[in-house]
Amino acid sequence: VVAVEGISEALESGADLLIDGHLGLVIVNPTPETERAHQRLEARRSSISAGLSPLRGEPAVTTDGYTIALAANVEFDRELPLIREQGAEGIGLYRTEFLYLRDENLPTEDEQTEVYLRAVAASAPHPVIFRTFDIGGDKLPAHRHREAEPNPFLGWRGIRVSLAEPEIFRTQVRAILRASAAGKVRIMFPMVATVAEIRASRAMVRACMAELAGEGVAFDPEVEIGAMIEVPGAALAADLLAREVDFFSIGSNDLVQYTLAVDRVNERVAELYQPMNPAVLRLMDHTVRAGQQAGIWVGVCGEVAGDPLFTPLLVGLGIDELSVGPRQVLRIKSAVRALDAKRCRELLARALATESAAANLAGCRELAQACYPELLE
Ligand code: PEP
Ligand code: MG
Repeated sequence: VVAVEGISEALESGADLLIDGHLGLVIVNPTPETERAHQRLEARRSSISAGLSPLRGEPAVTTDGYTIALAANVEFDRELPLIREQGAEGIGLYRTEFLYLRDENLPTEDEQTEVYLRAVAASAPHPVIFRTFDIGGDKLPAHRHREAEPNPFLGWRGIRVSLAEPEIFRTQVRAILRASAAGKVRIMFPMVATVAEIRASRAMVRACMAELAGEGVAFDPEVEIGAMIEVPGAALAADLLAREVDFFSIGSNDLVQYTLAVDRVNERVAELYQPMNPAVLRLMDHTVRAGQQAGIWVGVCGEVAGDPLFTPLLVGLGIDELSVGPRQVLRIKSAVRALDAKRCRELLARALATESAAANLAGCRELAQACYPELLE
């Protein structure tokens, strides 16, 4: 539950809180009746979740035969056991920034390799997409000892930091490449805005490959390289970027923030944070078409991928892979399996031309309600 405006002023110390993360609710001092109602709701949700477990080994395929790969987002290595447990097809976004949290100094190449190897083992036979450090913005300070920036989201963040700190970048890329000897590994760069950034990043990967080869260290020379599409400029130039990479992964969390100029962590403008806004959908659609034309696959790894209300639009867009919170995998699989891709494409066509996110939400809710009402509770 985020962006509950004024909650810290409204709360008295010692109050009882009922928090419903599914509905995004905080209820202060709930009545016994409300508590009982939520307990019943929780019990129903648990039984729905338990009922989904037979889907673990099944594909995410629509009623008319369109298949989406369904992977998991991982933020901490303690989540790794969930990959197999929830039947995810590997890791579609491994947020490596957590390594920064552990220590004042970044882990060495050997230490990073060990961490990455654990993710590869947990995902086998499916791939792991390692996203290189995305520090700055709302994550970690770009540099612990650096002064604060006036606009961190528009500042030194993601691939910009890696390219400016080649020793940090090299250490990470070498560690990822070493892990690629043990299983299927892909590398993805965050916050890409230009073709030049991709070329410079790929040059680093090539240089690391040459070094490792010279040292006789094993790695996969065919490792796929991708770009996150989360800056509107990258989405608009997706046809140019698509020539430089093997895949795209749309980072909707940032794409929404940058498209609508709405800080993703500022509760005062939370109402404008609209993933279903037609402007956002148009950028996503443009990115998918550019990917298709260039013959590369396109995934989505932002929060919308794990929201069953959004699934009809993602199916309609023709996304190849969704990467969602590990505990959302079975819910989203169940949603995909209840949908008809043709109907989703019709819904998307209308959504691209509507005037408001609210109208799109209503359209999605109607279709989702008709196909999988139990997943919306
Ligand atoms: C995104 O921006 O959608 C994304 C997946 O990256 P993060 O949330 O880590 O910025
Ligand atoms: Mg992002």
